[in-house]
Amino acid sequence: MKRVYNFSAGPSMLPLPVLERAQKDLVVYGDAGCSVMEMSHRSKPFAAIIENAEASLRRLMKIPDDYAVLFLQGGASMQFSEIPMNLARQGDTMLYAVTGNFANKAMQEGARWGNAVAVTTSKADGFHHIPKITADMLDQNAAFLHITGNNTVFGTTYNTLPETGKVPLVADWSSVILGKEIDVAAHDFIYAGAQKNMGIAGLTVVIMKKALLEREVDPIVPTMLRYKIAADNGSMYNTPPCFAIYMAGLVFEYLEQEGGLAVQEAKNRKKAELLYGVLDASPIFKNAVAEEDRSITNVTFTLPTEEETKAFLAMAEGRGMTNLKGHKVAGGCRASLYNGMPYEGVETLVECIKDFEQGLRK
Ligand SMILES: *Cc1c(COP(=O)(O)O)cnc(C)c1O
Repeated sequence: MKRVYNFSAGPSMLPLPVLERAQKDLVVYGDAGCSVMEMSHRSKPFAAIIENAEASLRRLMKIPDDYAVLFLQGGASMQFSEIPMNLARQGDTMLYAVTGNFANKAMQEGARWGNAVAVTTSKADGFHHIPKITADMLDQNAAFLHITGNNTVFGTTYNTLPETGKVPLVADWSSVILGKEIDVAAHDFIYAGAQKNMGIAGLTVVIMKKALLEREVDPIVPTMLRYKIAADNGSMYNTPPCFAIYMAGLVFEYLEQEGGLAVQEAKNRKKAELLYGVLDASPIFKNAVAEEDRSITNVTFTLPTEEETKAFLAMAEGRGMTNLKGHKVAGGCRASLYNGMPYEGVETLVECIKDFEQGLRK
């Protein structure tokens, strides 16, 4: 069967050469005599896999030496709880920029642990812009400021980071990480679920200032949820998600071969510009996001009625484009344009949009 253009927000399309490489290695990995799925995480081949993956990610993202890289489990959602538990004592003040669905979920988990404060929200305009944040808006004694760098559901993004003063900046970059250059040194803490743009589900990557590992952690925090434990054990306090780490390693290696993140960013911008251009010129398709806050990886759009939305989605599906339906809290449509989505996929989508405008329905 032919591969479709899968516009899902995640899990999402992987670069074809990565899948083919995994296929080649699937039954027997190198001279290990077994597959990655069957090998001990304490074995030599796996030690090389995890070390190479970290080294490759460090080169790609230009991660400074005073940052730790952790390979964790539980998804980005687990970080909503783990961050408060490691960076704040119970009852401490933590600041949140509520710019969408996942930002809100993160704050709700923070509220279980301490005094989670919304410093700003874009709820009033349906999360269609990113409110500016300056240091004078922030309690300078807060444990951290949490932002959702790229709002997967509504299609907004931080093109400039907030000024935080001395408050550590924590960012959820799940849906754009490796899709553009991110200035790691401008953050104190970055996290991302791998299944959007780094690989497959089961792996969450944390990039954090090593100094934050020294913050005192309340005794109630479980061992498995302590960053220090993960860091001290090379992300292998227990069995790590071996295959997901291997897959991410293949993605990192592939992106390095392709020329790094500047190359991916240029490709992703080109895809996004093509789509936004057609949406902006359209009499019926609309994108409601403030132009300066538009995401290059998650493009949301609407049609005038529910019937037309359904008809468009069916037409797109018929042409080999899947998962264009918007997230249930946002409605409408959404095209996720991660690194694995080829330019031709966006051209096919744009053609479908234009044909729909002309009255075609298949
Ligand atoms: C998908 C997503 C999440 C949730 O990720 P899980 O790995 O499913 O927990 C959190 N934040 C953002 C920005 C996301 O896009």
